[in-house]
Amino acid sequence: MEPSQSFNLGYPHIPTDWEEVPQFSDDEAAEDHKIDLTENLDVSGNTDDLISLISHELRTPLTSISGAIGLLMSGKLGEISTQGQRMLEIALSNTDRLVRLTNMIESNPETQAKILTMQDLERLRLGNDLRSAVASALRSSTSPEINPSENQELELNYQPIIFLPTGAITGFEALARWCNPRLGIISPAEFIPIAEETKLINSLGLWALRTACQQLHEWQQEFPRQSSLSMSVNVSGIQLAEPDFISQVQLVLADYPLLPNSLRLEITESVLMENKQVVLDNLKQLKALGIKLYIDDFGTGYSSLSRLYELPLDVLKIDQSFIREEKWDLIYTLMLLAQSQRLGVIAEGVETKDQSNCLKNLGCAEAQGYLFSEPLNKITAAKLLADKVEFITSQ
Ligand code: C2E
Ligand code: MG
Ligand code: MG
Repeated sequence: MEPSQSFNLGYPHIPTDWEEVPQFSDDEAAEDHKIDLTENLDVSGNTDDLISLISHELRTPLTSISGAIGLLMSGKLGEISTQGQRMLEIALSNTDRLVRLTNMIESNPETQAKILTMQDLERLRLGNDLRSAVASALRSSTSPEINPSENQELELNYQPIIFLPTGAITGFEALARWCNPRLGIISPAEFIPIAEETKLINSLGLWALRTACQQLHEWQQEFPRQSSLSMSVNVSGIQLAEPDFISQVQLVLADYPLLPNSLRLEITESVLMENKQVVLDNLKQLKALGIKLYIDDFGTGYSSLSRLYELPLDVLKIDQSFIREEKWDLIYTLMLLAQSQRLGVIAEGVETKDQSNCLKNLGCAEAQGYLFSEPLNKITAAKLLADKVEFITSQ
């Protein structure tokens, strides 16, 4: 098939056997696809070359994949289970998406050539890398015996949350970490937005929730005396807008039953401002499941204060920029506001003894920050629990 030849989505020709399906082994693919898109494309160069290259890179594997799907779906290779059929349908719909993208690139070369800068291509590549990292992490969390968690690119770190009056650990915030084999450690500030743009955040978020709940479940068994230990998991607005988010949470909790009120979900202010009905319904259902809801980075998202009255929230997390800039008047005002709504307060980003002292004097109950501990891997975090560590919160 010529690179720019148009592709029929309806699979008019179903190959009669596997021989007919264009196949590309890894070696052939390596030979055929030697071109590194990000290194060799001269975006300002010849538009026709660029389009042919992109078109070829997409169509060659698509031809093979869709031929194979068509053959499998035709039943010529034998009966396929219902689950297998479902997987084929998902594969088919993903192939359709790529075919549509290819058609778009071919039909609109001028625009595409202008849009695809080196940075765009690197971002696309990063999105692809993230897709396989998330798929592998999710497989390992659902069937650890087949896919052990070692050598996974994604992992969770846990930052202790401290009760300021005593210095005891009340819980942990789970924070995703990604070690990309090509580029090394990539910050969540970079990969979470990519995950949100590509909708990968739904599976990444599910993996984070499963892993964090599994970890808390383990710690609750191992350290029964620390029965009030909590786990906070960051949740994106995109996840919250998914109608099946609640059933996913229920499935995770069925696998890893937790003590009541020990799971907390952190949501940023902007999510609440969007005022989507499905989000509001999901928040209410999460509350009904005994999950506490935190507003993350509070004070930066311009939330209308009236939303605080309407929503079933439990805790305001005061944004770390206010602590860094030591805006004590503002922090105190936020604490009064929280108190008037019977909300708890956690101060984020506490880095100095002075900041911890001031927060304690203002009556702030909980805090987290590098002064006490940075986010830790699960082994180091468990050691803090085993040693019943209490942090010094004032001089
Ligand atoms: P966040 O939820 O507000 O998390 C707190 C961030 O502040 C973390 O950055 C943490 O490492 C950092 N931090 C903690 N103490 C200090 C301190 O004393 N000083 C300073 N300067 N920073 C401190 P991190 O891990 O890079 O995460 C950044 C953001 O990425 C998080 O902000 C959260 O919004 C998002 N994120 C991380 N993991 C996930 C996840 O699993 N799902 C989703 N949806 N978002 C995530
Ligand atoms: Mg957070
Ligand atoms: Mg925060």
